[in-house]
Parts: sequence; C-alpha cells; structure tokens
Amino acid sequence: MERLSVDSIFSQSLESLQDQFALWGEPRWRAGQLMEWIYRKFAGGFDECSNLSKPLRAKLKEKYSFSLAPLVTVTGQEHETRKFLWKLEDGNLVESVLIPAGSEEGGRHTLCVSTQVGCAYGCRFCASGRSGFVRDLTAAEIVGQFLGAEAWHRRQSGAKDDRLLSNIVVMGMGEPLSNYENLMRALSIINAPWGGNLGARKITISTSGLAPQIRRLAGEEPQYRLAISLHAAEDAVRDQIMPVNRKYPLNELLAACEAYQRAKGRMISFEYILIDRLNDTPRQCDLLAGIARRFHAHVNLIPFNKVDGCAFRCPPPDVIQGFFAHLQKRGISVTLRQKKGGDINAACGQLRLRKMGEGELSR
Ligand code: SAH
Ligand code: SF4
Repeated sequence: MERLSVDSIFSQSLESLQDQFALWGEPRWRAGQLMEWIYRKFAGGFDECSNLSKPLRAKLKEKYSFSLAPLVTVTGQEHETRKFLWKLEDGNLVESVLIPAGSEEGGRHTLCVSTQVGCAYGCRFCASGRSGFVRDLTAAEIVGQFLGAEAWHRRQSGAKDDRLLSNIVVMGMGEPLSNYENLMRALSIINAPWGGNLGARKITISTSGLAPQIRRLAGEEPQYRLAISLHAAEDAVRDQIMPVNRKYPLNELLAACEAYQRAKGRMISFEYILIDRLNDTPRQCDLLAGIARRFHAHVNLIPFNKVDGCAFRCPPPDVIQGFFAHLQKRGISVTLRQKKGGDINAACGQLRLRKMGEGELSR
C-alpha cells in the first residue's frame, strides 16, 4: 500500500532529480550519473548504481520506486515481430509490440507502446475498444515499456552497449491523446538526451482524431510525428465505425491537422484500415486521395485484421490491390502490406505496425 505514495524513478526528469539531490546536499551532477545507470546501462535497481554512495542509495530507495513491470510472456521469433505482455503493479496487463525495421536497417527496431488499459473510444473494428476502458497508464508505466524492452534485449543478447530501439510508435492499446499529460511526460523522458535519447522525429503518436488535443500538441515544442487513424474519408462512413467522429467530425479533425502541419511541417500520415464493402469503394478511394493530397501526406493501407466477435471482413486481394494502385495513380505516397499466414495473431494494428517499422518510419 505504502508503495503507491512513492514516486517512480522512471517518471522523473533530470531537473527534478537535480533539485531533489540539491535538497539532500548532494551535488546536482550526481543526478546525471543516476540517469546514466537507468537509460544507458539499463540498471535493475539502485544497488547497481555503484558510483552512488550507500547513504544516497538509501535515500533514493526511500523516496522512489525502481520497479519495472515484470514480463509475463514474449511471443514471436528472432527477426520477427514480437509481442511483450507486461503485468502492472495492480495486476492489469498491457502489451508492447517490437517490430524489426527490416534487414537492411542493421538491427533497428520499432517499439509500439500502449498508453491505457483498454480504450473508451469503442471503434467497431478494434480489439482494444471492445473491452472498454480500465485506466490510464502512468508516465512511468509508458517509459517502463521502453526500458523493459531494452532490458529484455540485454538479457537476450548479453550485449552491454548496443541499443535495441530506434523508433517508438504510440499505437498500442488506448487513445494516447486522452492520456495527454502522462504521454507528454513519458515522451519527453524517452526523447531527452539524458534519457532515452530518441529524436522526436523517431516518435510517432497515433490518434483516432481528438481535434482539441491535436491543436494542443501543435503548440508543444518537440516535433513528434502524428498518425491519424482516418479509416474513412467521409462522415457518413466514419460515423459508422468510429464513434469519436460524431464528436469531432472530419472537417474539425482535418482543420486541427492543418493547424498541426502549419506548426510542424510535414509530420502527418493517415492510417486506413480496409474493410470489405464499407470503406473500400472507388468513391472512398477518391475522397481519401483528395485528403492525402491536401496534406501531401503519406497513406498507410492496412487490410482489416480479424477480431473476435466482429463481423467485418477484409476485402478480397484484387479490391485491396485496386485501391492501392488507384491511390498510386493519383500520385499519393502509399504503402500496403499484404497479410501473410504468420501475421494473423495481431490484436491491435500489428500489421500496420510492421509495415510502419519497415516503411515510412525507417527512412
Ligand atoms: N487509439 C489510437 C492509437 C492506436 S489504436 C488510434 O486509434 O490511432 C490501435 C491501432 O490498431 C489503431 O490505429 C487501429 O488502426 C489499429 N487496429 C485496430 N483494430 C484493427 C484491426 N482489426 N485490423 C487492423 N488494424 C487495427
Ligand atoms: Fe481506441 Fe484506437 Fe482502438 Fe479506436 S482504434 S478503440 S481509439 S485503441
């Protein structure tokens, strides 16, 4: 119980630690040493931080927790997509997905992180939405997925220095922009030179379209990439599959995207799950092309992935190919990854993730 009142060390900024060290009468630069243990050497606890004095470690232990969520399972083989399942302190489970960025990329990997347990937005094609919303993840639980994957890599490979992750995509379970504060805090730690040291352009936030939060994000300093889960190019269709569209219809969403692009440049891409006889018609394709052209944005096409209890189906291969080719003909930058047998265990946009790992994000 007491644990709950203790802050996690994984949600601290360098500055807040420096201030705390100063309060303890310790030199401020020692806070940087601790960050090195966490984010360079992926230490497993304060006692591993051998250049910090024992009394300082004791004070740290009293004030901060240093516990990463244990790994429940890892699925997948080497060089393939892997799924990590983490058990949080309150027993809830969340997953992260590790996607190799392609053989020519020399061992680079993208990690897809979750931001909530469940999701309140109830998109009709999505497994996460079907189970309802449980709670937001804390900043430390989001950073913990990054640290947990790196720590797992070290245990696997025995490598001391090489880093596993080159990109982060925030498109696991949950709607990131409805957990805005914790997300921003976590990403600033993953982005910071003293922390995860991943460039903002290597970090993509995916949203179902929370227009006010997109505008707020436009005002933040870091240049995070934004992926919009569009999935339909007109309100009549989008309303049917994404309840969020009734709150923020396309004209509002796209106006917010324009504001983002004005502030950040070309940082937006559109995600489009192809669902049989719902959003795969020539008319939808033309409307999508119009939107993509307006933003000079990349489009990721994702064949619908089967979800238990959901009647939607993936369109036949010739329809998918036709949709893809038509966008190409219209001069749109577009990627499509066809399903392979082994891909089918995806719960949550895994096909798209793999594609993003190999495609746009690894350029
Ligand atoms: N809530 C955010 C973050 C990611 S949600 C968002 O909606 O953008 C998880 C992602 O998985 C979604 O972007 C969605 O596009 C994808 N996804 C969900 N269900 C899917 C399915 N059945 N087939 C393919 N992709 C799916
Ligand atoms: Fe939530 Fe995204 Fe799934 Fe929609 S697609 S239910 S917003 S996780």
